Amino acid sequence: MPRFSGHAEEAPAPLRHVLSIDVEDWFQVENHARAIPRAEWPRCELRIAGSVRRLLDLLADAQARATFFVLGWVAERLPDLVRDIARAGHEVASHGWSHTPLWDLSEEACFDEVSRSRALLEELSGQPVLGYRAPTFSVTKRTLWALRVLYQAGYRYDSSIFPVHHERYGISDAPTTIHRRAEGIWEVPLSVLELPRARLPVAGGGYFRLYPLWLTRWAIRRLERAGRPAVVYAHPWEFDPSQPRVRGVGLLPGFRHRVGIGGNARKLARLLREFRFASVRTVLAQLGIELEPRGVPRRCADETGILVAPGLRRVPDGCGE
Ligand SMILES: [Zn+2]
Repeated sequence: MPRFSGHAEEAPAPLRHVLSIDVEDWFQVENHARAIPRAEWPRCELRIAGSVRRLLDLLADAQARATFFVLGWVAERLPDLVRDIARAGHEVASHGWSHTPLWDLSEEACFDEVSRSRALLEELSGQPVLGYRAPTFSVTKRTLWALRVLYQAGYRYDSSIFPVHHERYGISDAPTTIHRRAEGIWEVPLSVLELPRARLPVAGGGYFRLYPLWLTRWAIRRLERAGRPAVVYAHPWEFDPSQPRVRGVGLLPGFRHRVGIGGNARKLARLLREFRFASVRTVLAQLGIELEPRGVPRRCADETGILVAPGLRRVPDGCGE
């Protein structure tokens, strides 16, 4: 029986998922750290502009938006690239300055890196830069101090905690949903598939390249059914099959770096056709989360130290201090 009314019934908007791109070049990745020391970087071929522009085209074709976490080191050398990302309607956020993992930085050096990169990225993009992703997901139990430093430096969300067990990074018992921390900052953790006895990282990087597409797709659908946005990540160099082959990185890191690169653009294009992707800020707004402007005193956290997004169930704090 049709219902007659002056207004069309509003269907709920489809859930959007986070797509995030960590803007660093092929020689800056952790897997190459031993083979290519920082002092060598200025002599390496810059390939990032081409890789980012390919990604921008891919996203434009799918009418998808993303958050680009850009290194200050890259922004300083390629300012037009940052302008192009912003002009294409994407969110610009910070990946720090030098790609040094937080466990190798002092609090002062971290404050300096994130403040300098924020100032430069804001100037180039014309947007407030409110988000941060640590190099190598290096917010771990040892480096949780960084969340306070980020908040003090003007950031309002962090997307660095990988709630999995991994030999290098991750907090294996951290909350898996978007939540607000006692430091005042919102945490947007990378997506994992929660199995009865383990958490499986499914939503990006080498995992996305290695796994069959159906597995990633199935994991995102599962999150979607629970009303939770997926947080997917990628790096521009993962779409560049012609990048130089680096010797001396070791068998496993070499495999991690190169597996699936050849077919990755096609794979991502298929994912972009199937799900709706947006920037972190858009997805937070969809969850009813308003990022507090800078300079406003924050509300107090509850006894768990975590404030939970409206519409998301409370989660136990596995990484409290
Ligand atoms: Zn990185």
